[in-house]
Amino acid sequence: MRSKSSDGRTFLAGVDVGGTKVAAIVADRGGRQVGRAVRSMAARPIGVEPIVDAIRAALKAAGVHISQLGAIGVGVPGRVDPESGVVQLATNLDWDDVAVGSLLETALGVTCRVENDVHLAAAGLLDQAAAGGARSLAYVAIGTGIGAGIVINGRLYRGARGMAGEIGHVIADPEGVLCRCGQTGCLETFAAGPAIARRAAEALTHGSAPSALRAVPTLSAKAVYDAARAGDSVALEVTQETGVAVARALAGLLLTCDLERVLVGGGVAAAGVVFMAPVLAELDRLRDASSLVAEVLSPDAVQLLPAKFDAVAWGGVALARRSAADNAAFGHPDVEIRDGIGEEVARLEEVVARETLA
Ligand SMILES: [Zn+2]
Repeated sequence: MRSKSSDGRTFLAGVDVGGTKVAAIVADRGGRQVGRAVRSMAARPIGVEPIVDAIRAALKAAGVHISQLGAIGVGVPGRVDPESGVVQLATNLDWDDVAVGSLLETALGVTCRVENDVHLAAAGLLDQAAAGGARSLAYVAIGTGIGAGIVINGRLYRGARGMAGEIGHVIADPEGVLCRCGQTGCLETFAAGPAIARRAAEALTHGSAPSALRAVPTLSAKAVYDAARAGDSVALEVTQETGVAVARALAGLLLTCDLERVLVGGGVAAAGVVFMAPVLAELDRLRDASSLVAEVLSPDAVQLLPAKFDAVAWGGVALARRSAADNAAFGHPDVEIRDGIGEEVARLEEVVARETLA
């Protein structure tokens, strides 16, 4: 039964603001999603209006009045001052010192907290079944860009400048291409979505192997993983190399921070097993080669989040819960995720086992 308005502000909203779209979810006191809405963020210049629209639409879908909303947690891709709710720099949105928190509070009349998106996702995963009780974990998003949020001993680690977890700009290939950050061969220039598409295009140009990708008019990471899933040899080579680079970066993160778990999400990782199998295979290889690595990197340390799970928006719900005046009323979010994770991990283990036998 859905709570009546007489129950007060017993719902929470979590928002994932991206460079092209914004997703808002409304959750009840049991951590169940009751409404969701997506709006475009593609226009430039852009303000907070699509975020307001998405929250209102998610409330409408849930049949929840805004007076029932306890708080809102918002994740933004960029540098954020979580105290003031000011987005200091979000290059994907062309935002420079935008007071997102107070703008949303003025528009909606509800307490609103803002945090960097991957940091928010990492903190929100802390108490979820997917984290397996880990108190030191990271969330790694592999999509258009690559970034990580790190939680150490149950607390989000933002770093000295709020920039902890910029693993997308750790150099993975010194002979590689120029990165938007100015360095050469950053992990992002090798394993982010546009880089995977570029490397596949290069492989087609430089080789003559038959490939279904030759018929694809505009290559994307999704097209490459779809072809790899179908056994395309060019696509498999690209995805194999991507997996090795990602695995090395994840192992570096685990070795640096001695984490119990790394949860992987984002648009590229959403390809699922075909993305994750070469990552896990390389992690196994690293583990087999070194007793030190084996000690730090347990076989279940790296896990893929289900593609449909919006880690940033759920992180927003977790942040909203902490901000809500009646926070004691809320349980842990999204407990159903446990089954999804279990299934996904079981499928991955099956694939890895099959590859090991081959
Ligand atoms: Zn870079």
